[in-house]
Amino acid sequence: QAPVGRAVRGRGRRAPGRRGGEEGARGARRPRVTVDSSKAKTSLEALKISLRQLRWREFPFGRRLPCDIYWHGVSFHDNDIFSGQVNKFPGMTEMVRKITLSRAVRTMQDLFPLEYNFYPRSWILPEEFPLFVAEVRMMKDSDPSWKPTFIVKPDGGCQGDGIYLIKDPSDIRLTGSVQSRPAVVQEYICKPLLVDKLKFDIRLYVLLKSLEPLEIYIAKDGLSRFCTEPYQEPTLKNLHQVFMHLTNYSLNIHSGNFIHSDSVNTGSKRTFSSILCRLSSRGADVKKLWSDIISLVIKTIIALTPELKVYYQSDIPAGKPGPTCFQILGFDILLTKNLKPMLLEVNANPSMRIEHEQELSPGVFENVPSPVDEEVKVAVIRDTLRLVDPQKKKRKDTQQHTDSCKNKVNLRHYYSMSCRCQTLEPVPEANEEPLDAGPADRAEQEGSRSPEAALPSLCLKQVFPKYAKQFSYLRLVDRVAALFIRFLGVKGTTKLGPTGFRTFIRNCKLSNSSFSMASVDILYIDITRRWNSMGIDHKESGMCLQAFVEAFFCLAQKKYKSLPLHEQVASLAQFCEFHLAALDEKRLLCGRR
Ligand code: ADP
Repeated sequence: QAPVGRAVRGRGRRAPGRRGGEEGARGARRPRVTVDSSKAKTSLEALKISLRQLRWREFPFGRRLPCDIYWHGVSFHDNDIFSGQVNKFPGMTEMVRKITLSRAVRTMQDLFPLEYNFYPRSWILPEEFPLFVAEVRMMKDSDPSWKPTFIVKPDGGCQGDGIYLIKDPSDIRLTGSVQSRPAVVQEYICKPLLVDKLKFDIRLYVLLKSLEPLEIYIAKDGLSRFCTEPYQEPTLKNLHQVFMHLTNYSLNIHSGNFIHSDSVNTGSKRTFSSILCRLSSRGADVKKLWSDIISLVIKTIIALTPELKVYYQSDIPAGKPGPTCFQILGFDILLTKNLKPMLLEVNANPSMRIEHEQELSPGVFENVPSPVDEEVKVAVIRDTLRLVDPQKKKRKDTQQHTDSCKNKVNLRHYYSMSCRCQTLEPVPEANEEPLDAGPADRAEQEGSRSPEAALPSLCLKQVFPKYAKQFSYLRLVDRVAALFIRFLGVKGTTKLGPTGFRTFIRNCKLSNSSFSMASVDILYIDITRRWNSMGIDHKESGMCLQAFVEAFFCLAQKKYKSLPLHEQVASLAQFCEFHLAALDEKRLLCGRR
């Protein structure tokens, strides 16, 4: 696999093929894209290189006038922004916390257990501790040969902080810490794929370009982070050896065995493509692996979108001026011995640092460039910017307007990923932007005017809507969330009040002689009270989305008794949508009169 970014790497080097001067004669006509980098924090260095390669204008101290793009280091709420684009979605940090992610995936596992078997079985502590004990006992009773290990991870923790392994539920440190710090306990994957006898995980970069419509891109290359002690299956003796079991870079860097790589296929941090090459030479089905990884990413994002939409409408209500959002996510994936990708976690702020600390003499540290990080991360940031380029969008809109009649499906544009993933079927879309066009194609599209012409092909590949057809049936909770949002009422809220819930029931015609409005109120109170007692978010009172989803499932089970859960929910969603559409039509007709 050709390393991306090579052609234009190097700090401040001019993109070849440009005419002299800040802007060539033609370039001067096109204003440069402006980027506020004042809040970029540790991603600043990689961002600066990307901006130089793109010849965009950086505002390192912010700008009085609005910028086209705001690059934030941490969260959406880093600043008040009313226009342009910002590289964070509201609510993303909350959504990918260990407990919230586990809950969102669990909802999907309830609906589609087979499709969501890429996430280890998890329990939320402290509230599900009794359930954890009971389920483990039951599974052990039914299979006495099952000798599981579990991993306990504090909620909101990162870099391996506070993580420990246990063999039995009774080993959980319930005193103090769990009460004050909720956690997720998860089945430990005991048989990971090893390379050089070492456990490793994969950090893949995923761009959520848009929530509505859903657009997802995956970077062709990622990083593999290695443990620094040879792996052994967990035993009571080795359970505490973090350098053997935890792949976190931040932990392993402190091991005497850590090897900084200056090439991309050796050392304790390597490119994922180098691992794929190794696997491919061993005869592994790398195409299938990529296809499974793409499915995992799409399904995970489908699990996150319903709640993200609630946050979005609350922070940027329709009609209020606000930026549009995009976000680079870090997916941590572990491969099992059988080459099945398993999701460990999603990171809303994946480290974009391209240097590491080196101890020159005892206690004296220096930041030195890390070629592996630079190789992967600069390409991800630069190509994210290329994809969200506001001027490209303007040009595209103009082009679409003038060329609408030429807008035909052109399957030639479907260049496959580096893996040439064929297991997934692309959806032919009339106006999809061609991806991975080779240099010749790109030069044709952009002309020699643009610095784009000198850049390598995009390292980010569109996977959604490209493969939307295979996954659209999973977007069931999205439909439930759309109903929830419709009845939220007051702009800016994330919780549904009792009146909103009653209106939902009434407008969707869900109440009848066997389900009175009094029972509706009891359902609302019961579920809302339980969710609010879990201590997730006390800022607002009312019913949160997950509580509404639970109530919706309950209603669906009641109404469509004999079907499997996902069919019950789909039937109820359809029933509600039908009645609401009829209501809207009636209101429209009344309004016209
Ligand atoms: P953190 O955010 O603290 O890094 P992670 O969920 O990524 O937490 O877990 C830290 C490390 O523990 C992972 O990088 C991986 O090496 C290991 N790990 C986490 N969950 C599992 C699991 N279910 N099975 C095996 N190893 C795991």
